[in-house]
Parts: sequence; C-alpha cells; structure tokens
Amino acid sequence: MNSKNSFLGDLSDRSYDDAIAFHGHSCPGLAIGYQAALYAKELLNLEYSEDEDVVVITETDSCTVDSIQTVLGCTAGKGNLFVNNWGKNAFTFYNRKTGKAVRLMMSPDVIQNPEADAVRQKVMSGTATPEDMKRHKELSAQRVQNILTTAPSQIFEVKEPQIPVPEKAKIFSNIICSVCQESVGVARCIEKDGQTVCQFCASKM
Ligand SMILES: [Zn+2]
Ligand SMILES: [Zn+2]
Repeated sequence: MNSKNSFLGDLSDRSYDDAIAFHGHSCPGLAIGYQAALYAKELLNLEYSEDEDVVVITETDSCTVDSIQTVLGCTAGKGNLFVNNWGKNAFTFYNRKTGKAVRLMMSPDVIQNPEADAVRQKVMSGTATPEDMKRHKELSAQRVQNILTTAPSQIFEVKEPQIPVPEKAKIFSNIICSVCQESVGVARCIEKDGQTVCQFCASKM
C-alpha cells in the first residue's frame, strides 16, 4: 500500500493529504472543511478525538464534512458527528473536556470567482465543452490553493453555538421486533397497535 495514502500517520497531525486519502479527491469543499477543522482545533484546543471528546454539528452534507472527520476524528460511528443538510457552510465544534464551543460560519464573500461559478454551472448542467471541463479543473485547483493559503480567520466568522452540546452516545439493549422477528435496539423501536416494532415495520403498518 502507498504509505502516503494510509492512515498510519500521527493522529494529532492529520494533513490535507490525509483528507484527500479519506475523501478520494481534492476539491474546494474539502479545503474549506480542512480550514474549519484547523481553526476549531486552535480556538478550542482540540486534539484528535479517539473517543467522543470532540463533537461537531455540520449544517451541510458537502465534501467539507470529510476533512472534519479526518482531522478531528469526529465520525458517524462514534456518534460525535451530526450532519445536517441545511445548505450552510457552518460548523459547530464542541470540546467536551472544557465545555467550550464555537460555531464557524463561512463568510459570504470568501474568495468569490464569477468565472468559476459560471463554468461550474455548465459542468453541473451537462453543457460543458472539453475546454470548460479543463478550465473547471484549473479554477477548482486554484480555489483549493487560495483556501488553503488564506488564514481561517479570514474565511470564517466565529459565532456562538446555537444549541448545547448533544448528549453522549448511549448503548441500548436489544429486543425482538414483534413483526419481522429481527433484533433491534429498544430505544429505536416504536409502539404500534400494542406491539413493539422496528421502524421499518412501523412504517408498513
Ligand atoms: Zn469533494
Ligand atoms: Zn421489524
């Protein structure tokens, strides 16, 4: 295996290359998420979260999220990553050890480029020529460079979190769904017609 693309490196010092290795490609969204994660790390004295000490709530489900997972160890499986599809480049980070938190909102005027927007429109709508595709790649790589070389304080506005830190992940016991007879976490079951059933079966009743 190519060692550059492995996750064997120092967890406390994950690089943008590590984010690319996890995400699959470099793109402006990944760069934005990377800068957000580094900024949060600095502002809240965060370390890579092997458990649930760091929590993040994102307000977008874009490429940005994968950098945050890479750098801070907030992952879907540990329950310290909450991804919302609200279309905002906003990220709330919590340090459970200190109780401190920040919400980073990307400024609307960050590194705007009307040409890049126009070319992206063509690519998205399937009307891009080969030249457009080439230009799109160039502009995208340029934007990544711009984002990575801009101070995070120029990219994000630091705001107060909108909600308190989410509860720690709980481990629930399982029961058998009375319809499908499959084992299911009791806290995720629904009482319906006097029976305790899984969500799928409840949706069919
Ligand atoms: Zn991407
Ligand atoms: Zn069921």
